[in-house]
This record gives sequence, structure tokens and C-alpha cells, in this order.
Amino acid sequence: MLRDGAYTAREIADILGLKVKEVHEHLPHVQRSLSGSARIIAQPAFCMDCDFVFKDRSRLTTPGKCPVCRSHRISEPLFRIENKGSGKPAKNTLRS
Ligand SMILES: [Zn+2]
Repeated sequence: MLRDGAYTAREIADILGLKVKEVHEHLPHVQRSLSGSARIIAQPAFCMDCDFVFKDRSRLTTPGKCPVCRSHRISEPLFRIENKGSGKPAKNTLRS
């Protein structure tokens, strides 16, 4: 099942046995199915050449090219799973 970390929509689709399109449609339900212990944070796609972030895209699909530098090197949107738990990040739990 889902662990802490960042997944592409395709990876989530594989894990849940859905199609990529269905992941986008069902993400609110997927989040609910995490039983309140974790939440899904969508990280928008960005341009790997100029770091332009596609913040305004309502659909979390991978854009074809960068509107700023025309690069086709666009990262896939990632979905990060974070445990709510104690409110601390899952990582950096080492005590000093
Ligand atoms: Zn760019």
C-alpha cells in the first residue's frame, strides 16, 4: 500500500489498480481511504530547465512543454503522502 514518499499518478494507479485518469478523478476518495492518518499533497509539474512551476493547472496531468522556455523536459506531477500522526514530518525524527 502507499508509504511515505512521492509517487507519480502512474505509480498510484499501479498500486491501487486504477487507470491514471481514474487516479485524478478518485484522488479525494483515495485520500479519504487513508483513514485520516495521512494526507496526499499534490506537487505540481515543473520545468526541469528553468524551474517554472505549473501551479495554475487544475488538471494534474503532465504538461507538454514549458510556456517560458519551450523545454519539453517537464517533470511529472508528484503526489506526496504525509502521515498526519504527531504533526511532525515522517522524516527527520532523529532526536538531538
Ligand atoms: Zn522552462
